[in-house]
Amino acid sequence: MTSIQIPDNSTSSAAPARADLLGLTFLELVGWLAERGQPTFRAKQLAGWIFNSLAPDFAAMRNLPATLREQLDREASIAGPAVRTEIKAKDGRTRKLLLELADGRLIETVLMLYPASGESRARATVCVSTQAGCAYGCTFCATGQMGFDRHLTAGEIVAQVLHFARELRTQPWVAPDGETIDRVSNLVFMGMGEPFHNYDNTLKAVRILNMPEGLNIGARHMTISTVGLVPGILRLAEEPLQVNLAISLHAPNDAMRLRTMPVTRKYPIAQVLDACREYAGRTNRQVTFEYVLLAGVNDAPEHARELAALLVPLRQLCHVNLIPVNKTAANYAVPTGEAIRAFRETLRAGGVSNSVRAERGDDIAAACGQLSTHERRKQSADSLDV
Ligand code: SAH
Ligand code: SF4
Repeated sequence: MTSIQIPDNSTSSAAPARADLLGLTFLELVGWLAERGQPTFRAKQLAGWIFNSLAPDFAAMRNLPATLREQLDREASIAGPAVRTEIKAKDGRTRKLLLELADGRLIETVLMLYPASGESRARATVCVSTQAGCAYGCTFCATGQMGFDRHLTAGEIVAQVLHFARELRTQPWVAPDGETIDRVSNLVFMGMGEPFHNYDNTLKAVRILNMPEGLNIGARHMTISTVGLVPGILRLAEEPLQVNLAISLHAPNDAMRLRTMPVTRKYPIAQVLDACREYAGRTNRQVTFEYVLLAGVNDAPEHARELAALLVPLRQLCHVNLIPVNKTAANYAVPTGEAIRAFRETLRAGGVSNSVRAERGDDIAAACGQLSTHERRKQSADSLDV
């Protein structure tokens, strides 16, 4: 077989790509400006414009010299991906974005607005994607059924949050108790993709979003959800960050989990739980276990009993969040209210604290991956028309 030499485009003489400033930590921004002969205080001004004033472009940054603004325009960007569609649920509390990345790939981001309840104040939570597509192929997940396209950069992750930060600034949400919510208060890394498969960019985005010169969102208000990649859990345990960890468990034993989550072959439940014990021991933080309820598959009382027995050794350190499945193309049915109540009660009796995730935005296909799946189908239907 003869091998064909493929020219390396990376050395072509095309104009250099503009630097995405949304993907730089404050120190990197200082360095990037220093390379252009700018003092540190310019980085403070620039970060203030981007993350505090939420300026849409460099032209709005009035206290920067015109020459610098022009140079920024030529060499840098803070635009983020283009908004392809934004839809709002009828109840006004869920908004979903379909974003088009520079290479045409589509990702989704969701804003969920929650009124105050009990001890917790009203909040605005953004659910971000960390990858276009996902490599892990969980059978109930629309993103998993697409396959993996690519990792998102830190800047592409930050841009998703910035979009809603800008939107809430210009159109604040007035909660039912009259409180005005004009900033993003919480983040969940539960959109498209597996955060720990893209560990470095995800954690960099966390740092940028958390930094005082950034959006200054408390790490305790962020939750990373993983399909259970053990090396990622152990790495997070070593980070000096108070980010919350959620594990997608979804079955009480390996045989059942393997049927819906192929990752179980690589990381069996026992290894995942060992890593969680290590994480909780090191960080003193509770771990949330997510459990998608699939009617007739994993929602019977004996499954709840098995789950309780599995988690009871971790009981002080864990909480189970039950999620009635959000319908995707895959043929799964939502459990009845009665089945959910019985499951909860069995878990509680087994000594495991739990809650049910309130359903969100059914009318806008809010489960991640659903909107872009729909858009892809539309595109292929459109192309059939040609
Ligand atoms: N890859 C990560 C994070 C993204 S998925 C993970 O798997 O944890 C975020 C959460 O949504 C996971 O708990 C996932 O199992 C859940 N999920 C996926 N498809 C769903 C569906 N159709 N209905 C309800 N939850 C779903
Ligand atoms: Fe990927 Fe998470 Fe979906 Fe599984 S549930 S396919 S890991 S995004």
